[in-house]
Amino acid sequence: MDNLLEINIGGTTFLVEKSILKKYPETRLGLLNFQSEEYYVERGFFYFNRNPELFNIILDFYRNDTVHLSSSVCSALVQAELEFWRIPFQNVAECCRSKFLNSDNELETYRKIHYPFGTDNNHPNDVDKNIYTQCGLQRVWLLCNEPLSSRAAKAYSIVYLLIVLLSVVMTFLFTVHEVREKAFDLDTLINKSKSAIGLVAFNVNSSKEVLFLTTRMPKWWYQIDRALMGYFTGEFIVRFIACPSKQTFAKCWLNILDVVLNMSMWTRFGIELNHEKNVNDI
Ligand SMILES: [Zn+2]
Repeated sequence: MDNLLEINIGGTTFLVEKSILKKYPETRLGLLNFQSEEYYVERGFFYFNRNPELFNIILDFYRNDTVHLSSSVCSALVQAELEFWRIPFQNVAECCRSKFLNSDNELETYRKIHYPFGTDNNHPNDVDKNIYTQCGLQRVWLLCNEPLSSRAAKAYSIVYLLIVLLSVVMTFLFTVHEVREKAFDLDTLINKSKSAIGLVAFNVNSSKEVLFLTTRMPKWWYQIDRALMGYFTGEFIVRFIACPSKQTFAKCWLNILDVVLNMSMWTRFGIELNHEKNVNDI
């Protein structure tokens, strides 16, 4: 008798073994004790104003260690119950998970959150997984890579898109006549180029070459450009450090493209620095 607790859920009484609730001490029922505010001392039972029908799903979890849904029940209601009773979503059985997650995308995101090393049983190493999730690397990875994993990740994906858009606009501006500032007079440039060492000969008839040599981008353009370079390189390094599998990361063609883009960005930076130096020497 000592092991039985009387729990009243919305008017229906349940007699529950204390020991099965203690299997999950982090959950609301696992935490129940006679000091709990839900305990009515004079009546001798616990009272919760919840739906008694759904409570059977909760009790089944303590009996079978997994949460299952019957087809007649709405998953949103059960989800609310799970939240109320503080039962983590991981405990929902594989067979019933798709009833909670509305799309294949959500299911895929769920897998990535809970099985960062894949669902293959031979592969994941629990120690690795714990280190990975505990030191926050997984949070960083999900933030950068899984827009569906959280609201912050969704917001970040929008910010990222805007930054990419900005970098496209910046590249476009580079060729816009009106944006470029006049730096040199063409005639002096022709005269000086004859004597100056280091300045590459150029074709006066090519309007493009003349434009690029006699004008330069305003200072603000370079400042934004440098900031973008720093951001893209930094973002790539952070993603590489935070990714669960370096091997998979290296095989993804988008990441290979990223490496190429980063390299070309820094090469351009080097050329620009060199060009500035030459121009200043004139
Ligand atoms: Zn099931």
